[in-house]
Amino acid sequence: MNSKTSNLGLILVVFLLVGIFSTASAHNNKPTSLSLASDTLVNKSEQVFKLNQELQSAFYRADSPEKELSSERLQSVIKIREALLAELAAENPAAFFAGLLPQTEKAKLPKAIQSTLEREVVVLGVLRAIHIDDFTNHDNSSTKYFLETDNKNYDLYSVKSLDKFFVGSTIEVSGVSLANFVVARNLSLIDSADQLIASESTGEQRVAVLLIDFADSVSQRPFSAKEAQGIIFDSQFQKFFAEQSYNKVSFAGDVYGWYTLPRSVTNYSVCGGAVTQEEVENIIAQNNINLHKYDRLLVMPSHPYVTNGCSSVGKYNQIINGESYYISTSWIGNLVQYNWPSFWGAQPFSWTNLDYLLAHELGHALGVQHANGLDCHNEIVYGNACRAIEYGNAFDTMGNLSYSLHFNAFNKERLGWITKDNSTTVSQDVKGLIIDPLAVGKGKVLVKILQSNQSSRTKKSPYYLEYRKAVGFDSNLKRRDFSSNQQGIFINKIPSFSVAPQLLDMTPRDAADWYSGIRNTTLNKGQTFTDLGRGISISVLGSTSTASSTISDPIMAISRDTRPTVAISYFAPECERFVPRVNQAYAPNFQIPAGDYGFISMRFENADYYGCGAANFVIETILPPGWSVSQTYPENNLTRLEPEEESYASTNFYIPVGTTPGAYFVEMKVRNTASGLVSSYPTNIFVTN
Ligand SMILES: [Zn+2]
Repeated sequence: MNSKTSNLGLILVVFLLVGIFSTASAHNNKPTSLSLASDTLVNKSEQVFKLNQELQSAFYRADSPEKELSSERLQSVIKIREALLAELAAENPAAFFAGLLPQTEKAKLPKAIQSTLEREVVVLGVLRAIHIDDFTNHDNSSTKYFLETDNKNYDLYSVKSLDKFFVGSTIEVSGVSLANFVVARNLSLIDSADQLIASESTGEQRVAVLLIDFADSVSQRPFSAKEAQGIIFDSQFQKFFAEQSYNKVSFAGDVYGWYTLPRSVTNYSVCGGAVTQEEVENIIAQNNINLHKYDRLLVMPSHPYVTNGCSSVGKYNQIINGESYYISTSWIGNLVQYNWPSFWGAQPFSWTNLDYLLAHELGHALGVQHANGLDCHNEIVYGNACRAIEYGNAFDTMGNLSYSLHFNAFNKERLGWITKDNSTTVSQDVKGLIIDPLAVGKGKVLVKILQSNQSSRTKKSPYYLEYRKAVGFDSNLKRRDFSSNQQGIFINKIPSFSVAPQLLDMTPRDAADWYSGIRNTTLNKGQTFTDLGRGISISVLGSTSTASSTISDPIMAISRDTRPTVAISYFAPECERFVPRVNQAYAPNFQIPAGDYGFISMRFENADYYGCGAANFVIETILPPGWSVSQTYPENNLTRLEPEEESYASTNFYIPVGTTPGAYFVEMKVRNTASGLVSSYPTNIFVTN
């Protein structure tokens, strides 16, 4: 939501592929590929590295001439280094840790300098998030996390997944703080806010809408303020939320503006990048807008260069013009084409860009994250080829492409729209369960399958089953290429390490590309999906005419015969282990002088079956003779991960003075101690005089 975001599109991010070597295993003894970190990341690491050298040289280094830094240069080194470390933390937290001065080196600096550098902290606060959506180019999308504490907000980054907690939870963060950000090594949950979000996402939502344009767009004003009242509050968007929340949520409010900022817009930006926080606050102050009357602030900047949308996830405490407000804030772009059919999935009914952007961004504002997917190539749920697809549920407005629109059942439950009244929870064998269409909301629209025989894990990683019929705002499912999905059930897995559901593709062999493949994604009549690792099998038995729940809805015209019935059975979970999945690897490709520090880093995942439980992973870095490790993350080279959980590892090492210039082989290995299976990242470090 700032100019940094808009610049991302200009940066050519180059991913290199290198071989990754794994020890032989029963399941995967051929090398897979991994992506190296981007060039920009490596360049930033190099700059930090040089600034560290400059600080060291100025104050104590014996092997370089002592030079006085002017106080201006010293201030500048500290500030530039701080900004670069913030960027490293955002892109790859292990690169942040790798870029820090080793403790022993930092201790040699004057105390006054040390106090301006990074420090170890433990902070208690509330997890908050803002989504920046670029629906056309997902590489530009991001989630910005922050930690709200009593006296300040920190930007928050972490080597452990922050998706593990619902936004709004109180967490304890231990890690390193610098300027206004914290990078977590460890996170622990103090209090999850389940009930709070449900209570805040039902009932009438009072919205303050700010219409803003610019000196160079005022002539293209797309609608009047009076018209805005109708196109927002009496719209398809409003009808969609009434239908999908089963009349539990509605939006009402006031439109303020237009306000014309006396400047032009020169760069493309997604949403909030176009208008600064200061400009928004000035508009609110100058026009005496009383935000205390509202639950939600919706900023709508109109300019051809302002596209897509952004939003906070849920409400948060904001200081606006010196006053504290507990509200959500969302931004909507593409206003110049507001009434065009949605760029992100046309529907067989009126559905405009504005309807889509309002639905997605106010979905975030109510408290949900994206509807994702899990692509395991020829497998459904396990294997070294799996990767998470952000926005990967195309059958959900919180995903991408809008094959259909209703939010998935997990997110509806999160928002308090699905409760135990319209869902069924399963934890033992059952047959003949009927699932009613998600768009209708009568009967049972969700079957939630808990893990059985594992009492400590019953709440972790359940399966969510739903049935979609081509009615109401899901009626795009009539399209011939999506219609097979009406023959069965959608299965979302809730990962053990995340609160964002992942749609599974029940026909994984039919296409190479995820979004094409999931055109037929459901488990259909006569089919069974078996998760050996969780010890669960799900079968779709076909229709029934002896329905135990009955619905009659003339508008939706659902015939009871079309609903699928399912059978769930449990068995002892099996354990198969795989080599750790390496998602990214990272080392400097620039030259490092002898007498200095290099680093190597990996991001890896426990790819074992869910039934194996957590395993310990040992990280080992192979260095040339005489080189020594100066610091590592994790500190003791040991980390414990649940199946499907991910972690970073990084090692900084010292290259002795007098090392002959040339290329040196360095390798990082990660070993699952439960299986002995190893993945490694071999590379060369280039040493100069
Ligand atoms: Zn989003």
